[in-house]
Amino acid sequence: MGEEFKLLPLCHPNAREMTMIWVCSGAANVGKIAHEVGVRLTKEGYGRLCCVTAIAAGSKLHEGIAKNAKRNLVINGCANRCASKVLENVGARVDYKIDISQFLRKMPTLDFYEGDIEKITEFIINDAHLERNSVE
Ligand code: SF4
Repeated sequence: MGEEFKLLPLCHPNAREMTMIWVCSGAANVGKIAHEVGVRLTKEGYGRLCCVTAIAAGSKLHEGIAKNAKRNLVINGCANRCASKVLENVGARVDYKIDISQFLRKMPTLDFYEGDIEKITEFIINDAHLERNSVE
């Protein structure tokens, strides 16, 4: 197992050295795009996607990851800002946040264009001045 999969650095021991990425993964086009952008940023080494739902469910381990992160980057699907609120509710810093619905209309579909993932990923890399994680 793992031979064909690129394993990610563990969140908890490495959070102080990494940009942690929190996405809402909502059940609409913009939520799915938020997730896919988080995946793309992680695979390209700009940060590490982590489990925002675990914080909402009361996991102290994940709360600690957010509180100790070098930087928290939050990708919300729409103006409800669910992922941001999860971090704010436990007193974790939100260092950079974005609302996908400012770029694309929220629609009740799980379909999206790959081109939108690329454009928004590039926008975030530039707008947030992201650098690649030193941890691999
Ligand atoms: S921010 Fe919007 S898209 Fe994301 S989970 Fe909340 S309501 Fe759904």
